[in-house]
Amino acid sequence: MPALPAFTDLDPAPRILLGPGPSMIPPRVLRALATPATGHLDPDFLAILDDVRHLLQFVFQTQNELTLAVPGTGTAGMEAVLSNLIEPGDQVLACSAGYFGERLALMAERHGAQVDRLQREWGQVFETEVIQQAVQRKPYRLVTLVHAETSTGAWQPEIHAIAEAVHKAGAMLVLDVVTSLGGLPVRIDAWDIDAAYGASQKCLSAPSGLAPVTLGARARQAIARRRTPPSVFYLDLESLQRYWVEPHAYHHTSPIQTVYGLREALRLVYEEGLEARFERHQRLAQSLWHGLESLGLEMLVPEAVRLPTLTTPRLPPGTDDAEVRRRLRQEFNLEIAGGFGALAGKVWRIGLMGHSCRPENVALLLAALRTILNPSAD
Ligand SMILES: *Cc1c(COP(=O)(O)O)cnc(C)c1O
Repeated sequence: MPALPAFTDLDPAPRILLGPGPSMIPPRVLRALATPATGHLDPDFLAILDDVRHLLQFVFQTQNELTLAVPGTGTAGMEAVLSNLIEPGDQVLACSAGYFGERLALMAERHGAQVDRLQREWGQVFETEVIQQAVQRKPYRLVTLVHAETSTGAWQPEIHAIAEAVHKAGAMLVLDVVTSLGGLPVRIDAWDIDAAYGASQKCLSAPSGLAPVTLGARARQAIARRRTPPSVFYLDLESLQRYWVEPHAYHHTSPIQTVYGLREALRLVYEEGLEARFERHQRLAQSLWHGLESLGLEMLVPEAVRLPTLTTPRLPPGTDDAEVRRRLRQEFNLEIAGGFGALAGKVWRIGLMGHSCRPENVALLLAALRTILNPSAD
C-alpha cells in the first residue's frame, strides 16, 4: 500500500467570501452548529423545526402552511418544486435570461415536461407584457422565473403583475428566490406566488445544505390531483410536510446540526428586521458600485434592475481574469467569482450577501482591486 499523506489539522485560509455563495457564516451560527444532536423525532427537535418553519414564513413573508427546508442545496429546492408540480407531458414555460433560468428549463425537461423557453439576452429581464402574451399561447401548467439571476446580476421586477397574468392564463408561477431571500424584498403572499425556493448559504448566511421551500394553495391542490406520486421519493413535499408538522411521520433523518445553524441564522435575520436588512444590502451595494466606477469599471446591468446582492462589473479591456482573482485570493484572502456561460471572461461576480455584506469587506475589496488594477496609482 502506498504511504498515506500527512493528514494535518483542518485549517483552510480565512477567506472573505464575496462570491455568488456561500456567504460568510456569523459566529453565533458557527456556535449553534456545535450544539449536541438530539434525535430527529425528539420533541425538543420537533419544537426547533417548528421555530424554523415560523422563521421561514417570516422571511418568505407568507402564511403558507407548507413552508419548510428541504435537505440539500438550492438545487434540491428547485428539484423539489419541479418534481412535485410536473407530471410527464405537462407544458412548462421557462423564462430564461441566465444560467439558472436555463437550469430550470433543463430540469423541467428531465421531469418529463414539454418545455418552451422564453429567452432574453443574459443581463436583461422580462417585460410583463411579453410573459403575458406567451402564457396565452398554450395551456401551460407552470411558468418558471428567476427573481435574482446570480449568473448575470439582474433582478426581475413586477413579479406580482407577472403572477397575475400567469394565473389568468390558468398556470402556476414558480419563483427562484435563491439570491434574493433575506437580501431584497420577497413577498410570497402579496405577490401571489404558487411555489418558491431558496438556499441557506446565500443571503441567509447559514451553512449550505438546506433549501427553504414554500407552496401556496394552488400548488398543493395540483399535487393532490396528481395521477402519479412525485417521482423523487426524497423530495416529496407532502411527505416532508407530514414530518415537519403533525403527525411528524419519519421521512428521512433530518440534518440536525444544519437545522440548528439555519435556525440561528434566521433568528439573526429576525432580530435585524427585514427592512433594515434590505436597506443594508442596498446601501452597501451602492457604495460598492460607486467604488467600482471610480476604478473605471462599468456595470453590466442598468441600475434600475441591478441586483444589490450580486454585482457584475465588466472586466477592463486587457485584464487577465484568472490572474486578478488569483491575486485577490492569495494576497488578500478575498473570493470573488468569474462570469460563466455567455459572460465567461466578460464580467466578475461580486456577492454582498448576508453576513458578508459589511462595510469593511467592501472597503477591502475596493482597495485590493485598486492595488491590482492600477499599481502605478499607489
Ligand atoms: C446558487 C443558485 C442556485 C443553486 O443553488 P445551489 O445551492 O448551488 O444548489 C439556484 N438558483 C440561483 C438563482 C442561484 O443563485
